[in-house]
Amino acid sequence: MKLLRIDHLGIAVNGIDEAGQFWTQVLGLPMEGTETVTEQKTTTAFFPVGESEVELLQSTQPDGPVAKFIENRGPGIQHVAFAVENIEEALAELKEKGVRLIDEKPRAGAGGAKIAFIHPKAAGGVLVELCQKDLK
Ligand code: ZN
Repeated sequence: MKLLRIDHLGIAVNGIDEAGQFWTQVLGLPMEGTETVTEQKTTTAFFPVGESEVELLQSTQPDGPVAKFIENRGPGIQHVAFAVENIEEALAELKEKGVRLIDEKPRAGAGGAKIAFIHPKAAGGVLVELCQKDLK
């Protein structure tokens, strides 16, 4: 599989409006519009920086994965996402290697990307996202 770059860092926050101020006002990053991914019970906002982005994740429901993450570990980095050339190929290779996956098949992420998560137990406690999207 070919990893192209770190695509984004996913950061769990209690509220995008409040947490976003650090990224926009202190660090001077632009904020791209927010998007709600209903299936994930999450609203996301992206802050582009070079070839990568910061993704803030806010739960829309108390039982969503982001809410659970914050409950257990507090706000902070929740996942790291790598852009891959071909996500189906990457998942097939990982399966062949016996790597534990959360998503056996790609699903739809924010911005029309195809995404899949590797289980943190297979990655030293880090939730790793693979994503494939058309370059802007
Ligand atoms: Zn992400």
